[in-house]
Amino acid sequence: MKRFLIVGAGLSGICVAERLLQRGVSVKVIDQVDQPSSTAVATGMYNPIVFKRLNKSWMADELVAELRHFYRGLESKLGVQLLQDIEFKRCIPSQDYAVLWIQRLEDQAFQKFIGPISNGFGSVFESGILDCELLVKSYVAHLVENDLLLNEAFIHDDLKVSTNHVTYKSQTYDGVVFCEGPYASKNPHFHWLPFKPCKGEWIIVQTDRAVTDVVVNDQINIIPLGDNKYKLSSTYEWDDLTWNKTSKAADELLAAFERIFKCNTKIIDQQVGIRPSAADRRPYIGSHPRQRNLHIFNGLGTKGIMLAPYFSEEFAAYLVEGKTLKDEINIARHIKRYYQEINS
Ligand SMILES: Cc1cc2nc3c(=O)[nH]c(=O)nc-3n(C[C@H](O)[C@H](O)[C@H](O)COP(=O)(O)OP(=O)(O)OC[C@H]3O[C@@H](n4cnc5c(N)ncnc54)[C@H](O)[C@@H]3O)c2cc1C
Repeated sequence: MKRFLIVGAGLSGICVAERLLQRGVSVKVIDQVDQPSSTAVATGMYNPIVFKRLNKSWMADELVAELRHFYRGLESKLGVQLLQDIEFKRCIPSQDYAVLWIQRLEDQAFQKFIGPISNGFGSVFESGILDCELLVKSYVAHLVENDLLLNEAFIHDDLKVSTNHVTYKSQTYDGVVFCEGPYASKNPHFHWLPFKPCKGEWIIVQTDRAVTDVVVNDQINIIPLGDNKYKLSSTYEWDDLTWNKTSKAADELLAAFERIFKCNTKIIDQQVGIRPSAADRRPYIGSHPRQRNLHIFNGLGTKGIMLAPYFSEEFAAYLVEGKTLKDEINIARHIKRYYQEINS
């Protein structure tokens, strides 16, 4: 039986571990669970529409179908409710945008994803929210129960790589899968990939009246949490990549909210994370160009909830059954330009 070491128990590590376990492959996951991760603070939304130009998100039909199937399976396995189907309402900011929306409504390819405009907002279907905090908590508990988790920092210098296997702290594995999220830029084997990490912050506000019971998108997302509490998500920042909360982000989110809803608000929570984004906005999946038992599953960026279920299945089929990875997600696409440059 094959045996893999997985570094990281965020969304990537969880999905890869689950896909391998489903195939009867033995896994050990290593994660220093008290360090911050992208998944722990992710808002968890999935939405098949890219609002800027009103296009379907890349592979939306396949990804949305697979995410439902996968997370529902995890719900049964873990005995928790993770997915909440919830309608999104997109603000229609101009007449041109309204015309485009109506054109899309008449297009068969969009019909299951969008509905008519009403009171200045267009409806989006097949959207929802995954409870990421609960996913991590319950999956980590499941790993611990089954003695599949090492709760400690992975030390790269302690990994010994041979032609057919790797050894980490006297244990031998067929390979390692690095699912380190935004920490991957420090990985000595994969740091050459063009990562483009992006900091994000959200706040929760308490208001003096109810303003919406669906997710509203207008520059930011406004997510109802009940009891007149709303999550305002999220900011995008590429220069300051610290995990520190900023008043700039809180001000920006609050200003966007107050442009739509007039009411008294008080900030009651704020969180920050770093999204593991890829320069070309496609996942970084595959094997090291020279050391073929070192693998990576990363680059989920802003769309991890949609991407991880589908591509972890493709990746597990590649690792275990030798299937071919799609060119668009295979890190092989970057070898010529980035790997050779730093090794010449
Ligand atoms: C504010 C914010 C909002 C977001 N909202 C959404 C959203 O609504 N929808 C969506 O699809 N996506 C969203 N995202 C993006 C989403 O969070 C990511 O796509 C996804 O969670 C990435 O998962 P990951 O497992 O690759 O990385 P991570 O979740 O960061 O996991 C990496 C794991 O690796 C571990 N690790 C790394 N190095 C080591 C080491 N040396 N030793 C031990 N452990 C190690 C870390 O502890 C961590 O647990 C959001 C992100 C942010 C920051």
